[in-house]
Amino acid sequence: KTFEDCGFSPQLMAAIKKQGYEKPTPIQCQALPIVLSGMDIIGIAKTGSGKTAAFVLPMIVHIMDQPELQKEEGPIGVICAPTRELAHQIYLETKKFAKPHGLRVSAVYGGMSKLDQFKELKAGCEIVVATPGRLIDMLKMKALTLSRTTYLVLDEADRMFDLGFEPQIRSIVGQIRPDRQTLLFSATMPRKIEKLAREILTDPTRVTV
Ligand code: AMP
Repeated sequence: KTFEDCGFSPQLMAAIKKQGYEKPTPIQCQALPIVLSGMDIIGIAKTGSGKTAAFVLPMIVHIMDQPELQKEEGPIGVICAPTRELAHQIYLETKKFAKPHGLRVSAVYGGMSKLDQFKELKAGCEIVVATPGRLIDMLKMKALTLSRTTYLVLDEADRMFDLGFEPQIRSIVGQIRPDRQTLLFSATMPRKIEKLAREILTDPTRVTV
């Protein structure tokens, strides 16, 4: 399997090359065709597997495929991660693939003042990378709406639950249209995560690495 098989744009292919990615990792080989086909996925994978690119690359394709959506407001792609550190890593990787297409990525986690974050979100973006608590804060402040979000990633779902973010995750998911594409990644699948997955994913395919 190669990245060429995925039908990525020349801009994305150039960004992949620039990152030094020669061929897809095992999780990317399994997940990319499924996610690119528009289906929901449960990915059982750890950090270090290359899972970030497995959800970011199809997200860019998803957004570029719907130019009519780009006229409205609010992020089309939303990625939730448990910690500021992980969210920041995802943000950096996402920017590399979003920039060549002129897509704006906003980071919604601690480290920036809430007012600055509010202003940045008000200015508009196509992609948000967030920790659940700060995203809820921004939603309450009406810095953004999730009404045009159609691509949702929950990364390290088990850790988000361990950190007590289940209510925030349910609130966020509840604000996103049900016909979205949903991707859930977790290192482990305890019963509580299985239950969440059953509730918020539609006919998900399960991949394990
Ligand atoms: P992740 O599991 O997403 O945190 O990725 C772990 C590391 O692997 C990161 O430093 C990525 O930049 C890198 N990586 C992701 N995909 C590939 C690939 N296809 N080839 C080489 N390195 C990769």
